[in-house]
Amino acid sequence: MNKDIIIIGCGPSGITAAIYAKRAGYNPIIIEKYMPGGKLPLAHKIDNYPGYTSIKGSDLATSFIDSLNENHIAIEFDEIIEISKEKDTFILKGRYKTYSSNAVIVASGTSDKKLNIEGEKQFFGKGVSTCAVCDGQFFKGKPMAVIGGNSKALEEAIYLSSLTDTVYVINKLSSLDGDEILVDKILSIPQIKVLNGTIPLKIEGERTVTSLEIENIDTHEKSTLSLNAIFVYVGSSSNSSFASFKDIFDEKGYIITNEKMETTVDGLFAAGDCRSKYLRQIVTATSDGAIAALSAINYLKKSVE
Ligand SMILES: Cc1cc2nc3c(=O)[nH]c(=O)nc-3n(C[C@H](O)[C@H](O)[C@H](O)COP(=O)(O)OP(=O)(O)OC[C@H]3O[C@@H](n4cnc5c(N)ncnc54)[C@H](O)[C@@H]3O)c2cc1C
Repeated sequence: MNKDIIIIGCGPSGITAAIYAKRAGYNPIIIEKYMPGGKLPLAHKIDNYPGYTSIKGSDLATSFIDSLNENHIAIEFDEIIEISKEKDTFILKGRYKTYSSNAVIVASGTSDKKLNIEGEKQFFGKGVSTCAVCDGQFFKGKPMAVIGGNSKALEEAIYLSSLTDTVYVINKLSSLDGDEILVDKILSIPQIKVLNGTIPLKIEGERTVTSLEIENIDTHEKSTLSLNAIFVYVGSSSNSSFASFKDIFDEKGYIITNEKMETTVDGLFAAGDCRSKYLRQIVTATSDGAIAALSAINYLKKSVE
């Protein structure tokens, strides 16, 4: 029996799938396009992963990678751009190499959605960012804004308030929709100014960002905030368009699975944020990864000689 299982993505779901497969005597190979740990290093602080009362995202990423190394799991650095299936074998086309396997777990996470407003593209990396923990330090002491009112946005606004005296939270809705504990905290921090019912219109600057034009949705009143950094947290989309099999996506492009993480394609499984699900968090990603590995193993045992 071919005991190889290819896992696309080295975030929490891919890492967990690899550990479960390896411990069951299989040979998982993780293919990662960027760096091990997935989105974990982007989180300033994680307060809701059991076992840690509070841990930096980068420290949790290191623990996950330690588990990977402890289990001697191979990582191949490449980006999968296409998957096809010939009889029982999946052919995975990477940027550098082509891979084949009888079982594939897609654990490729999500990408951040863009605002699609004037100046966003021009100033991306020059004041516009999707990672407060990576770029916040560059704007220490300067006014900043976070776009979004979800838990991720609020968590990052709290972090930024430790670096500067003014953090605007630009929230489209009439109230913040993050976890209650975060909303309470945000409202208690004097440096954070929440602007509900407000949308960003235009980012302006010279070499780097100098201002953000906003609009109040109800009154249509426009105003300009002088600031130097804008962190965007307005949702995400699945990184799975490379697996273009018929009927595997929901209407938003997330991979549909059953509770065993099976897709409608035999031998193809999905785990973590890239799949259609209710809650995209680390605990649910690791849970999906474990289930996907067991399902892939059972599939290989039953179906492939
Ligand atoms: C700022 C921020 C704060 C967060 N805070 C929390 C929190 O406090 N608590 C919590 O539980 N969750 C938090 N999350 C969410 C959590 O990080 C994710 O739910 C989790 O990382 C999902 O794991 P995953 O393995 O499904 O995907 P990811 O972590 O996104 O990993 C997917 C991996 O796949 C790789 N990949 C993508 N496409 C390809 C390809 N074509 N070929 C090869 N590799 C590919 C990516 O490079 C990435 O490494 C936060 C996320 C962010 C961004």
